[in-house]
Amino acid sequence: MNQQMNKMANTADIVMIGGGIAGLSLAVELKRRKAGHVVLIERNYIGSGASGRNVGRIRAMQLTESLTRYAILCQKKYDQMAEALG
Ligand SMILES: Cc1cc2nc3c(=O)[nH]c(=O)nc-3n(C[C@H](O)[C@H](O)[C@H](O)COP(=O)(O)OP(=O)(O)OC[C@H]3O[C@@H](n4cnc5c(N)ncnc54)[C@H](O)[C@@H]3O)c2cc1C
Repeated sequence: MNQQMNKMANTADIVMIGGGIAGLSLAVELKRRKAGHVVLIERNYIGSGASGRNVGRIRAMQLTESLTRYAILCQKKYDQMAEALG
């Protein structure tokens, strides 16, 4: 653990806490927008929370129109993810 700690960056412009889909997606987007040096901190391992245990269902129909629009945008983003991340 100490060796890993030594390799960690000691400065950052943005610190993200949590290596689930929310934290990782935001970190990738911030990097894409060149928002600065992004450091992501995960207390366990990447995907150890709900993101690594879910059913994998993507549902477009949501409770409100704005959430439905958001879900459709997310679906498009998901479809492009493999190409975007390489
Ligand atoms: C059984 C189950 C089935 C599901 N099925 C679906 C589905 O079919 N479709 C769907 O859209 N959604 C589904 N979900 C919901 C979906 O998985 C979650 O909404 C989503 O994964 C949440 O992502 P997140 O990044 O916010 O949280 P998480 O994936 O939980 O990530 C949070 C991370 O933060 C870390 N963390 C927390 N506190 C700290 C701290 N203090 N310091 C450092 N790290 C910390 C945790 O270790 C964790 O890795 C399901 C959820 C579950 C549990």
